[in-house]
Amino acid sequence: MKRSIWIIITVFALMAGLAIGVFGVPKMVQDRVFVPELKVIGDIRNVINISDLDIFEDGPMLNIEGDTIKASPLRQLIDSGEPFSQQNSVIIVGHDGSVAELDYDDLAKSYLAFNSEHGWHSINLNHPVSTKIKRIKEIAVISKVTDIDYEYGLSIITTGENLLNITPGQAYGRMTEYLNPEGNVSMEKDGSQHKAFIYSKKKVIRIEELLDYDIEENIVLMGRDGNIVYTGNIGSVELDDNHFNYNDGLSGDREIIDLAGIMMDPPGASIMNVYNDCIYYTGLDEKVMVIILDGFGNHQYEYAYANNYIDFMRDASSITTASSVIKPVTNSGLAAMFTGKPPAENGVHNHDNRQPLVPTIFASIIHDNKKALYVEGDIQILKTEIDPVLNIDRNNDGYTDDDIFECSMENIDSGFDLMVVHFHSIDDMGHDFGDTAAETMDRVKILDSYVEELVLAWDGYVIVTADHGMHPTPDGGSHGEFCYEDMFVPYIVFSPGQ
Ligand SMILES: [Zn+2]
Ligand SMILES: [Zn+2]
Repeated sequence: MKRSIWIIITVFALMAGLAIGVFGVPKMVQDRVFVPELKVIGDIRNVINISDLDIFEDGPMLNIEGDTIKASPLRQLIDSGEPFSQQNSVIIVGHDGSVAELDYDDLAKSYLAFNSEHGWHSINLNHPVSTKIKRIKEIAVISKVTDIDYEYGLSIITTGENLLNITPGQAYGRMTEYLNPEGNVSMEKDGSQHKAFIYSKKKVIRIEELLDYDIEENIVLMGRDGNIVYTGNIGSVELDDNHFNYNDGLSGDREIIDLAGIMMDPPGASIMNVYNDCIYYTGLDEKVMVIILDGFGNHQYEYAYANNYIDFMRDASSITTASSVIKPVTNSGLAAMFTGKPPAENGVHNHDNRQPLVPTIFASIIHDNKKALYVEGDIQILKTEIDPVLNIDRNNDGYTDDDIFECSMENIDSGFDLMVVHFHSIDDMGHDFGDTAAETMDRVKILDSYVEELVLAWDGYVIVTADHGMHPTPDGGSHGEFCYEDMFVPYIVFSPGQ
């Protein structure tokens, strides 16, 4: 009897001890120890913010030198933030300045742990003990893939070159930390005012340092929110967790959150000029026709020019280059042209948006008691104040452009002050065969002849431009990225009687 009582007592004691080990101690640690915030940042879609010990709830127990501790597998933690790519380095940064870089593929025995002595710390059972970073400040995921997903990084381009394409993680080690002034604070205590100045620590880099050479004076910055900033003041790029921002350090009023790209020495024109030019010409009681060659980028124009595919358009009275908008896709390109406003103001950022939030050129023309006609292909792309005249492929030749052309010619003498004609086949061929493929250029040649007939028949100004360009891909072409092939288009104007 005595023996079995002792066994029961022993079992109870063991269970109580186990219960304290599993539930009791970490709970006590959580109650009396300050848990500092720990972030996982860099090349991940979702920044991970850890501010309590909940991440250990499902984690394994590790037995290290006789101590049983709770740990969270590092790779699992990083995966929960959805890295941009599968090839990464993981940088663990301590408050004391010590840093360990581990390969993402070699994290099988790497853990994050917490205790009151070392705060957040790393345990890498497959790595030397020097990789144990105590009091971790942050963990950065760095993509080793250079051909980045344009949904995330920062690109710097000129009208003819893609200069840089960098992810937040890749820029991480190059940023300088500095104190950004936030403002004065003061409090009255014991009859006197106690003042202080508040700063926040930011990671910044000057654009020249990203490029390793001096940059042109004029730049255009574009955000994924559709904001566009023209500036001569270079300012600096800030790394903010998993994206870049732009801050004009001097005035503070120019700012872009989630900076997608920078254009160096940009052209003076934007596709938004379509709106203003239409207002200007019709204000002079001149007629204007806008011909949109979908997906005809500036470099394709130059290729067609050099290879004699555009014998008519090459002789226009004014030929310049214009910048498109983010994203360089049809909906946002058309909305920028029709409203004269950047996506941040007109509300059309991509294929998902169809309703401009501000009036389009058609509303202005109607308001001035003038007549407008909008000739489209077989689907309505944006909701505009006047409905487009749609054209199906009536003769089944695989294209609607010949039908759009015929419809436009039939209406060219019907007294319209503004005609907008949107052709599609250069974009279709560009997707299927590539931006400068023979098939695409053959369509450019056909479109050049359509433009010629329309210009000769129209008694007014004609603007020929594109919504966006096209870049080559392994199996054809695509667009929608901040690269020079997608972001620059020709802007051609024919004067009346030309
Ligand atoms: Zn398009
Ligand atoms: Zn397209």
